[in-house]
Amino acid sequence: MRIDLSGLHSGKRECNLFFAILVFIVILAVWGNGVGQKRLAETVHEKNLFAMDTYFSLRAYGPNAEAGLTLCEDRVRELEKLLSVTAEGSDVWRIDQEQAASVAEDTFRLIGEALRIGEQTDGALDITLYPVLRAWGFTTGDYRIPEKQELAELLTAVDYRAVALEGGSHSVTVPEGVQIDLGAVAKGYTGDVLIDILRQQGVTSAILDLGGNVQTLGTKPDGTPWRVAVRNPFDRSQVAGVLEVNDMCVITSGGYERYFTGEDGQIYWHILDPVNGMPARNGLVSVTVVGEQGVRCDALSTALFVMGKDRAVAFWKQQGDFDMILITEDGELILTEGLRDCFESGADWAEQVVYID
Ligand code: AMP
Ligand code: MG
Repeated sequence: MRIDLSGLHSGKRECNLFFAILVFIVILAVWGNGVGQKRLAETVHEKNLFAMDTYFSLRAYGPNAEAGLTLCEDRVRELEKLLSVTAEGSDVWRIDQEQAASVAEDTFRLIGEALRIGEQTDGALDITLYPVLRAWGFTTGDYRIPEKQELAELLTAVDYRAVALEGGSHSVTVPEGVQIDLGAVAKGYTGDVLIDILRQQGVTSAILDLGGNVQTLGTKPDGTPWRVAVRNPFDRSQVAGVLEVNDMCVITSGGYERYFTGEDGQIYWHILDPVNGMPARNGLVSVTVVGEQGVRCDALSTALFVMGKDRAVAFWKQQGDFDMILITEDGELILTEGLRDCFESGADWAEQVVYID
């Protein structure tokens, strides 16, 4: 009996041909993707602005990046006009001067969010601290150490619960003597607005640095994660570590960001404890919050700094919608479990790293 193998041979030939075409398609796809990514990386656009009393560095990739960044700049200027505490006629200025003001949707939403987080953090975040901040000179740079008595008097007007919002007319009312300042939350909110604008413009890869608040959109153009440095608060030219993130905000509050040295040789920084009106000294020198929403991360980084390590850890366990890096006065680096695979500690820090879960 002869077995006819010709069919089998031609089948094998077809199979080889099919395999060769498949390999060719895969090579073409990989090459094409590489070219696409290269092109995306080549079309980088940057915008550097001085806004909200700090430097903004906005970088976006792809064909729509330039138009997107132009819209971002316009929006930053618009928000700055609404949210500045010192610019005459801003929404915040009018609330502080007139005790009642009808404000823009942005201002209304931001104040609402800040009050909610004030509530959640039991007043560690308090937007009505403004008169106390002014007494220290943190808003003007004319630094001084207020007397205990002066602080006690000013603190009688500090209470975020005294701010009343009326949804229909977008009006904000405060009692006489109460003044607000959105310095702890405005940049995080602005970052959220800018990421939305870029997304709507079809941008899929961007990194925004709003005075040290970093917000990322998508991945780097080559598909790898963004690398965001966490500064060493004891030596700002060094890093405590690097985080790898996509589509995330990395927002830090640090005593070292704004401070002065008093005649007594002590350091006084700009994050105040609403309980006593003094610079918050509860064992932390830097707090970084990692999460999806900039305004929340910004509000929480300030609040957790005030709360100190134990309260911050308890709050994190209760909320669970963010990750954080706490750096203590003693140089301990405390990270939440969610960051284990995306954090690389800097030189000399590896032994101080502790994970909590
Ligand atoms: P951040 O850099 O986001 O932590 O914001 C700090 C800024 O928020 C300060 O410069 C003050 O304008 C303001 N601030 C300081 N302490 C507080 C506080 N406990 N609650 C709300 N705002 C604060
Ligand atoms: Mg903040």
